[in-house]
Amino acid sequence: MGPGPSNVAPAVLQALSQPLVGHLDPVFVKMMEELKAMLRAVFLTQNEMTFPVSGTGSAGMEFCFVNLIEPGDEVIVGVNGVFGTRMVEVAERCGARVTKVESTWGNIITPQQVVEALKTVPKPKLVAIVHAETSTGALTPVEEISKLVHDAGALLLLDTVTSLGGCPVRIDEWNVDAVYSGTQKCLSCPPGLAPVSLNARALEVARRRRTKVQSWYLDVNLLASYWGQERVYHHTAPISMNYGLHAALRLALEEGLENRWRRHKQNHLALKSALGAIGLEIASQEGHQLWQLNAIRVPSGVDEAEVRKRLLNEFNLEVGAGLGPLKGKIWRVGLMGETSTRENVRLFLTAFCQMLNECGRKTDTKAALAALE
Ligand SMILES: *Cc1c(COP(=O)(O)O)cnc(C)c1O
Repeated sequence: MGPGPSNVAPAVLQALSQPLVGHLDPVFVKMMEELKAMLRAVFLTQNEMTFPVSGTGSAGMEFCFVNLIEPGDEVIVGVNGVFGTRMVEVAERCGARVTKVESTWGNIITPQQVVEALKTVPKPKLVAIVHAETSTGALTPVEEISKLVHDAGALLLLDTVTSLGGCPVRIDEWNVDAVYSGTQKCLSCPPGLAPVSLNARALEVARRRRTKVQSWYLDVNLLASYWGQERVYHHTAPISMNYGLHAALRLALEEGLENRWRRHKQNHLALKSALGAIGLEIASQEGHQLWQLNAIRVPSGVDEAEVRKRLLNEFNLEVGAGLGPLKGKIWRVGLMGETSTRENVRLFLTAFCQMLNECGRKTDTKAALAALE
């Protein structure tokens, strides 16, 4: 119940253990086409260029930046946590001139802030936003920002590593030009692949570069020949990981996106109301709190690390710590993918209330559990 990796369904673990075929085997090629189709379905996009990059979510981030950015390009990045900070780092390594739009950690990036940034940098090439900030538990709405970005003639890049599969992500409807995700958060697959999607505009930018993409491994122009119809060997696809993702996507689509989102929402609301019953709260901005990552504010007088350590040692239950300015101030409780169940909310509350009681904060376990009903 940390910030990922989330629990993995038995069917996915089983898929990972299947015998290998070659990366150009007709069976695998058929699977590649199914993967692309299922990824389009979860991203809610028609983008032809939709496939899993070999590597974790950060490889997806790097894939988008290295293909779209050339030295000297102006880029605006929303920074309200660890992953916006990482985007700045990656963009700068591509030679971008980066303007940061910063919010207090726990808060969202607002359209107004983007308007202000566009006054200093009126013609950026790209604006990058983290949809669900896993380090703080805030969900930034993107529709209005998307309009502003496109009015300025820029591309919109969205990090959906934690949002995909856990709450609405509508790539075509929101007019997102480039998007990446990861497998180990709400898709509930082990870490190792980064689903990405580029629309025609983004692809055109990558195709018409003046300079070669600095990364041979992540160059979309080369990867397109393997994931497209030509099937030209580029690198050996991580076969087993792709089996795993195939199984995980099947489960997600069998459940149905709307049902899956609703499950995440309901379990978050249940946890939130139970926390309220014992006088605790979610630390991220009200109205923009993630369903899949709950940042619980540490009450005064309680040793945050002690509670976390004992949850792991005595209950085999992992929760995450705060990072950066939120270190020591929050616990991060993941309700991602397979992990998002009412049983897990109950298990967490039972263990958590006991730990609070033993770590110096009198807590009414019965009141917390009663609020779940
Ligand atoms: C986890 C995460 C990443 C990085 O993914 P890795 O799989 O750890 O490389 C990027 N962005 C967000 C929002 C994340 O939650």
